[in-house]
Amino acid sequence: MRRALETSDENPSRRDAIPFIPRGARIMTNALDLRDLRYAYPDGRVALDGVSLSVAEGERVAILGPNGAGKSTLLLHLNGLLPARLPHDASVHVFGRPLIEETADAARRAVGLLFQDPDDQFLCPTVREEVRFGPEQFGWTEARIAEETARALAQAGIPDFGARAPHHLSRGEKRRVCLAAVLACAPRLLALDEPTSDLDPRGKRELRALLRALPVTMLLATHDLELAVEICPRSVLLDAGRVVADGPTIALLSDEPLMLAHGLERPHLLAHRHPHPPLPDAP
Ligand code: ADP
Repeated sequence: MRRALETSDENPSRRDAIPFIPRGARIMTNALDLRDLRYAYPDGRVALDGVSLSVAEGERVAILGPNGAGKSTLLLHLNGLLPARLPHDASVHVFGRPLIEETADAARRAVGLLFQDPDDQFLCPTVREEVRFGPEQFGWTEARIAEETARALAQAGIPDFGARAPHHLSRGEKRRVCLAAVLACAPRLLALDEPTSDLDPRGKRELRALLRALPVTMLLATHDLELAVEICPRSVLLDAGRVVADGPTIALLSDEPLMLAHGLERPHLLAHRHPHPPLPDAP
């Protein structure tokens, strides 16, 4: 599914720049374009060493790689949490717009980021307040905020958790609260960092079903290769801050030498599969 973002009505400057596009025409844009993205942490450690990557709207892409490959650092760039000062010449484009200081608020609204560590995400004393926090910043009506909050809590499998204190929950429950908080903002691009860690088998099953049903663009950084196979038709393999492979998930994960060379292994799920069967559940 691809949905065009910018019409000539919504973006007059673009209309001026591309005068031959008829009024009302829809221009296809990618959800995400990374162009030679580089980042070193303040201590000098290079985490991203020239990553280029485009993701079409509606795609679900797994970001795979060993520990320290740069997966989390990459996701933190998608809504401007890194770098600390956004450059004028953006390497990150979200839905066709360069991610710079002036567009950072819009990018944060478009991109929902589920952090690896749930405790990094909590700001409020109750689960309900936590989940309402994002929608409250959008100027929605109270009725819409309440509706989106209830929907997100139900989607995350915790419809009755509203009055509970986030810090008193189990790790798996905290992860669901974080997911609900992200979903409540109705992001167009969902960036999930190890979403299944801390979930029990039932929680993993429910999350898989939820992710498959969500009609949004998705980037999923994970070590859970079976999740990647089930959710993402396409995978990108990162190592040492570089893209070392990009292609159909099953073909990529079936390439045992490639997997072993980058600290991963072929998932059991693929042990008896032909390397190039039709992709499951293509969007
Ligand atoms: P991954 O998510 O693939 O495990 P990360 O993006 O967390 O990888 O890390 C990429 C590299 O950046 C690693 O070498 C890691 O040690 C380093 N790194 C991550 N966070 C920091 C930090 N806050 N300060 C310095 N180096 C960091």
